Amino acid sequence: MSKETQEGITVKKEENFSEWYTQIIQKADLADYSKVKGCMVIKPNAYFIWEQIQDYFNKRLKLLKVRNAYFPLFIPESFFQKEAEHAQGFKPEVAWIEKEEEGERLAVRPTSETVIYDSYSKWIRSHRDLPLRINQWANIVRWETKATRLFIRTREFLWQEGHCVYETEEECDKEAVQFLNEYKKLCEDLLAIPVITGKKSEKEKFAGAYYTLSIESIMPDGRALQMGTSHNLAQNFSKSFNIKFLDQSGKEKLPWQNSWGISTRLIGALAMFHGDDKGLVLPPKVAFSKIVIIPILFKETEEKVLKKAKEIENKLKKYNPILDDRNYSPGWKFNEWELKGTPIRLEIGPKEIDKKQVVLVRRDNNKKEFVKISSITKKIEESLEDMQKNMLEKARKEMQSKVVKVSSFAEFQKAIKGKKAVLVPWCGLRKCEEEIREKSDGAKSINMPFDQPKDLKEKCFNCNDMSLGLWYFAKSY
Ligand SMILES: [Zn+2]
Repeated sequence: MSKETQEGITVKKEENFSEWYTQIIQKADLADYSKVKGCMVIKPNAYFIWEQIQDYFNKRLKLLKVRNAYFPLFIPESFFQKEAEHAQGFKPEVAWIEKEEEGERLAVRPTSETVIYDSYSKWIRSHRDLPLRINQWANIVRWETKATRLFIRTREFLWQEGHCVYETEEECDKEAVQFLNEYKKLCEDLLAIPVITGKKSEKEKFAGAYYTLSIESIMPDGRALQMGTSHNLAQNFSKSFNIKFLDQSGKEKLPWQNSWGISTRLIGALAMFHGDDKGLVLPPKVAFSKIVIIPILFKETEEKVLKKAKEIENKLKKYNPILDDRNYSPGWKFNEWELKGTPIRLEIGPKEIDKKQVVLVRRDNNKKEFVKISSITKKIEESLEDMQKNMLEKARKEMQSKVVKVSSFAEFQKAIKGKKAVLVPWCGLRKCEEEIREKSDGAKSINMPFDQPKDLKEKCFNCNDMSLGLWYFAKSY
């Protein structure tokens, strides 16, 4: 047998989460660093996950009457200046092309509201042009000065951004919530990631928005990760960009707008939630190869075993199985595919052939079963389905175990120090949030979940003012 060296994850998830994450992303072949600081190379294993997200979401968009389009990467500086809050909010992270074009600099898009709404101002004339619902899949550049982390915070990333225009506040409001709920469904159904849906605070909302809704998760290290947002922009941008329509009675009006997005950050969340000390665990729905077949080879029976393994490979074609007949020991191969996160491993050797069965091992719970070859397709189908469900449940329990409900600042402080997220009655005021941030060494509001207790009477845990409801607070990515 070959003696090639093999290095799995060298730290424990529990002990050094940050290093564990860096290793899992690279060793499971999801992404790599590039020569340009803060940029990443997305490898096929991760790009396939992104494609599944796109496929899933494009189908939903079609049902919701959203069309895909594409707008330029470069945005004239004057567009940015039109919406003051927006310009101010994005100022620190815009990358500029210094070579001027018609007397002004061009920004590399950090988000596309301004460039898209310039087009909308030309396209929208009448109530008959509304609602207008457009999405684009694109790359985004935000010149981060903070430390970067693959998938979680990089200078360039991939995302989708939806931009819709409506006649009325009601429609805009309703659909801003609807798109957020679509994100929740996607995260849970496809990626087995549990999320909290709610509203961001005044301090944390999108620059230029009336309000921002978000999906968030509490990661296994107790830090929150924002995974998607949906902004009601009210008429802020239609005013600045001169988007007007004539209503049914011929009166000129400003439309209401929302914008919403999710990004390749979701792939980072997936690895954080589902990885373990042996490597990645891929939810079956986003695994390119859902099965790896490992033949157990001995000289005398090699031919027979390989022949059977190939038969099984053919039978299971729709799962893109890998038949690993390389010259490594079975143990070496087990480790390799566990590291990469392949959902199901089938082992077949001479003993199994005699009994007309294979050994099936699930990546999520390591459960080992003997399965008759005659019923293998059915068994695989059931196992994949069960695994997908089981992973979401496990992640949900883990997330719940990271949250504590507190009422006072002392309890809050203790929980944050103990690497937990908290649920607290809070006033929602900007000044109060700034004070909390100072006092608590960086904890910030995550969101106010839609799901609220009916008769909350508690006061703000920090300033004792009236509370708006229960909010999540945590340190965040
Ligand atoms: Zn307060």
